[in-house]
Amino acid sequence: MNGSTLRVAKQKILIKNVELFSAPGQQTDISVSDGVVTGIGDTVTKEAENIIDAGGGLLLPGLNDHHVHLTSYAASLNSVCCGPPSIVSEEQLAYVLNKQSGNYWLRGTEFHESVLEDLDRAWLDKNAPERPIRIQHRSGRLWIFNSLGLEIIQSAARMLKPHERNQLNSNNGRLYDVDEILSRITRTEGPPIDIASKKLAALGITGINDMTPTNDPNVWNWLSNLQESGDLLQKVRLSGLPSLTKIQSRSSRITLGETKVHLHDSCLPDFGELVEIINISHKSNRGIAVHCVTETELVFTLAAFKTAGTIPGDRIEHASMIPPTLIEQLFELNLGVVTQPNFIFERGDNYIEDIPEEEHPFLYRCKTLLDAGIPVAFGTDLPFGNPSPWVAVKSATNRRTKSGSHLGNQECISLTLALQKFLGELSNPFEPRSIEQYHAADFCLLDAPWAFLNSNLSDGNVRMTIRDGEIIYDREEEKPH
Ligand SMILES: [Zn+2]
Repeated sequence: MNGSTLRVAKQKILIKNVELFSAPGQQTDISVSDGVVTGIGDTVTKEAENIIDAGGGLLLPGLNDHHVHLTSYAASLNSVCCGPPSIVSEEQLAYVLNKQSGNYWLRGTEFHESVLEDLDRAWLDKNAPERPIRIQHRSGRLWIFNSLGLEIIQSAARMLKPHERNQLNSNNGRLYDVDEILSRITRTEGPPIDIASKKLAALGITGINDMTPTNDPNVWNWLSNLQESGDLLQKVRLSGLPSLTKIQSRSSRITLGETKVHLHDSCLPDFGELVEIINISHKSNRGIAVHCVTETELVFTLAAFKTAGTIPGDRIEHASMIPPTLIEQLFELNLGVVTQPNFIFERGDNYIEDIPEEEHPFLYRCKTLLDAGIPVAFGTDLPFGNPSPWVAVKSATNRRTKSGSHLGNQECISLTLALQKFLGELSNPFEPRSIEQYHAADFCLLDAPWAFLNSNLSDGNVRMTIRDGEIIYDREEEKPH
């Protein structure tokens, strides 16, 4: 696949004996040429360079993950998890940090204070290896450095403006909201996007909505180049800063997403400021996606939308806490919700412990929103959530935590519906695609028919992933020879 370019795969493919989601129990054939579906059933083109026998396996449109942070995910592949559920004590934290070999940056992720109340520079200097270390709190807002790590970023920060340099001063090594500065001064580290992209292809993913609030024209160009060199296999829709609005796309494989607004209820922006950001984005016909994980953030955001008005494409990210009184407002404002049922599985046990019981029904709602007529789609929030959409799908159907507790049973949806939440267009996550003639040949081929998968579905069932008629993952080729 190396050296492949943005040109569409010319190869003619015939996939025989597939089952389509729209016609369970039946088998048909699909032909592909120039990156698009040229025929289904009676209309297939028989001559092909590559004939694949699906053996009755289910063929889905390629999965689209509607909320990811690709760069952080790639970086996470070079790093170590420092929080629950794998790390729950100070001793385990010290162990896992010392286990990693090498003398370059060690990057910790997913840290939570339940592991160690006051993790700081002094603790790291004393208990962790002597190499530059930075550990990110799972909220994404806080980084904790050891002395060597602080030294490196402070010296790299010499070219920054004084007020930015000051943000990197800290005696205890704890720095808040420095992600944007850090990404600028550490960009040369070059996270392994190619490895990340292959992992996503193996999960059946052909497209991503990258929702990182700091995405700017530099990130756009960087990702676009990675697509051209064949290192980034997925289609990308890039949300982020207002500055992306003016970008001129030179490829259909990377497109402009929403203006992303990241709120923190501890320091909300001026209300008028948020309204203005919405207005400016709307003026260029670009939707707004607002990160809302607390009730306060959601109330604030809904009030701003009420003032500014909404346009199609406006959406709430996460909507982690929705009290019943806000459901009708979401509907009246025509807002969509992109949420993460996987967090019920991954973090549900913590929620049960930390969040008052009467608020448990507010968490990561799904069915009550759909019943109220609010469009819902799913994204994993990788790397903060498990990158597998199959984990999210399962969690949406059973609402079980890791330890097996139920959390929000009334929000369970069917497996079919849950899968469809990953099948929407990148530009319209809420309407599931189906496989149709003349549409892009983006597929996820599973190794069994629906009747079997229905009761037993995981990422192990992904047999092949095809984007624009190009095979970007083939399970057979990954097997050791
Ligand atoms: Zn996110």
